Amino acid sequence: MIKLVDLKAEYEEIKEEVNKAITEVIESSRFLNGEKTKSFSAGFAAYCGAKHAVGTSSGTSAISLALNASGIGPGDDVITTPFTFIATVEAIYDAGATPVFVDADKETANIDPKLVERAITKNTKAILPVHLYGRISGMDELMEIAEKHNLSLIEDSAQAHGSDYNGKKSPVLETASYSFYPGKTLGAYGDAGAIVTNNSDVFEKASMLLDHGRRQGEKYTHRELGHNFRMDEIQAAVLGVKLRRLDSWIERRRRHALHYNKVLRADIGKPSEKAIRSQGMYVYVITAKNRDALVAKLKENNVEAVVHYPVPLHLQPALAELGYKKGDLPEAERLASEVLSLPLYPQISEGQIGRVAELVNKHANG
Ligand SMILES: *Cc1c(COP(=O)(O)O)cnc(C)c1O
Repeated sequence: MIKLVDLKAEYEEIKEEVNKAITEVIESSRFLNGEKTKSFSAGFAAYCGAKHAVGTSSGTSAISLALNASGIGPGDDVITTPFTFIATVEAIYDAGATPVFVDADKETANIDPKLVERAITKNTKAILPVHLYGRISGMDELMEIAEKHNLSLIEDSAQAHGSDYNGKKSPVLETASYSFYPGKTLGAYGDAGAIVTNNSDVFEKASMLLDHGRRQGEKYTHRELGHNFRMDEIQAAVLGVKLRRLDSWIERRRRHALHYNKVLRADIGKPSEKAIRSQGMYVYVITAKNRDALVAKLKENNVEAVVHYPVPLHLQPALAELGYKKGDLPEAERLASEVLSLPLYPQISEGQIGRVAELVNKHANG
């Protein structure tokens, strides 16, 4: 069986160090608001070249907190992409706001900046691009639009650890939220996330809201009604060990992705070499006209391939109240019918990649 991601193989590489870090937390019996969370958050801010980071309980809570801490809430509209994981939009609702969808761009699969301006109304307060698969959205154009219309720009970077933009690693332009869900490029051993920001007010406010609306050292003064959205110390300990290896693991992901590019048939839709060299390579995504049949063939041959994502959010039953229908956002709908993620993780072997490619080459209609 070749799995999409093999977390056991990753654990084998860091077993001693990670066991020691977890044991330190248990021995200290400090499970929340401790040194591990503080030092991981500082380390991750530095990794992203940003001023501040604060650990959260998940990527989803990080997005909703980032919105609230930026002053977005009930009555506000947030422009986002329909071609993402449901959590992006759940977080908009959790923050009390309403999503407005703008179609994806054919080339990047991210929100199409050319279509954003016409979706802005007096209720629009923020743009929330998602850097899907680790491809950074068209941030230069989005920043220009956000500035012109006085909107917040909050990045869903849940898939974009270590991706470059304009030659800079993981740049956070204003405020970004990250997920450390176990299967992500940097994953915890449970749920965790982070808000990374260059805005000190957003940092202060998010830090307060995620800990029951209190500031550090003020145990029973609750300045606002907040949440329990804290990162826990065991997750921070695991993440601290993994952060030290993140760049070398991303290098291995890139090497494997380049190998896929070499051994896959020329007519199959695949990422460009330039894209691979600039992304954290969370997933390796191809396109195939007979995608569903291809997934079935791979499964028959013990290869796990996964679709990120088969149904665009504007067509999800849970969001029927928004009133979208089939055909409204055609690029997102086409992408959803053709994309396929192949097994990719630092410890995969060239032999395994060769086996997957052989099956894809035999069964895909490009
Ligand atoms: C994983 C993911 C999230 C949610 O992160 P969790 O840590 O699982 O809450 C949000 N947005 C995108 C694009 C994701 O891939």
